[in-house]
Amino acid sequence: MQIASVEAIPVRIPLKPERRMVSALGKHEVSEFVLVKLMTNDGLVGAGEATVTPQWSGETVWGAKSIIERLFAPLVTGCDPHDIDDLSTRMEKAAVGNWFARAAIEMACWDVVGQQAGKPIYELLGGACRPLTIRNRFSLGAYPPDVAGERAAALAEAGFETIKVKVATDPKLDVQRVQAVREAIGPERTLTVDANAGWRTVEQAMATLDRMADCHIALVEQPLLRNDFHGLKELRDVTGHKILADESCFDEMQLRELILHDCCDAITLYPGKQGGIARAHRMAALAGEAGIPCTIGSNLEWDVGAAGMMQFIVSSPNVQIETIPGDCLGPSYHEFAIVKNPLVIEGPFTTLPDTPGLGIEVDWDLVEQHRIDR
Ligand SMILES: [Mg+2]
Repeated sequence: MQIASVEAIPVRIPLKPERRMVSALGKHEVSEFVLVKLMTNDGLVGAGEATVTPQWSGETVWGAKSIIERLFAPLVTGCDPHDIDDLSTRMEKAAVGNWFARAAIEMACWDVVGQQAGKPIYELLGGACRPLTIRNRFSLGAYPPDVAGERAAALAEAGFETIKVKVATDPKLDVQRVQAVREAIGPERTLTVDANAGWRTVEQAMATLDRMADCHIALVEQPLLRNDFHGLKELRDVTGHKILADESCFDEMQLRELILHDCCDAITLYPGKQGGIARAHRMAALAGEAGIPCTIGSNLEWDVGAAGMMQFIVSSPNVQIETIPGDCLGPSYHEFAIVKNPLVIEGPFTTLPDTPGLGIEVDWDLVEQHRIDR
């Protein structure tokens, strides 16, 4: 089997009004993603998604489209999609960074390899190590405190056991928002916060976290700047808070730094940020060898990206979502699905089908209607 062509299609899709995201990075109201359509010489069509968010990964739809079609596509065309590690290495050598763009092609390779084998991707990665239905946390935007409280109460009612609240916007509102959510969800449910690298210093983080002490925060996600490993260590040691590293871990070197500094209690990984399903899978195992559990975060992936995430979750033993829930709810944030058979998302649960490849079938006619480069 050979890769015959790779097309990168930029699309735009609004979020449902009640699911629009606000965080230390700003507002996310409309998603702009690149869908990859990879065709093989024997007629298979694989799908990938570059879930680009400029404030977070530095990638844009226009940059991703260009690098996929002009740089990566010529490198992989004519190659066997089974050679996933080799193709990933070639793309990495051709362009540093561009994690989500590289992951989109890698994901599409897995999709056709799985289709040809008649197996879901998780089977090709060693098999499912947990049920195909997972329980998610909910990631609540940095809304005004009263809105956050109301939404949190509704989420608790809908069955969510863990609520993550975005912080590091305005210190006073951060505290009021977290207090409102704790009040709304009661004392038993788990409450975590995500600063998205928004606190500039250890002192700033400590000052706000101290004021939330009565809210019993289980986990503080990415409180400090991306590569401030010393700061994470100090914050963890001085406050005793459990730290979840997210933006601090794109590549293996950063993973190594996190381990060497002994500065976090868990790490968030996902296929897009890690540059592919295989690499995310490998990094989860490496973290496990160092005794650090992993979980999964989200860039509000759409149907294709979310399917790739689910394949990673169910095949990675150290993605310990049972004790540190992640979120794979992205499709439910968007106004409509781009696939004929979307993942089933009900309350806090997402279910991956056991069908070959990614497990979803893209509606390419619908994609054409929403492409933004025409
Ligand atoms: Mg995060």
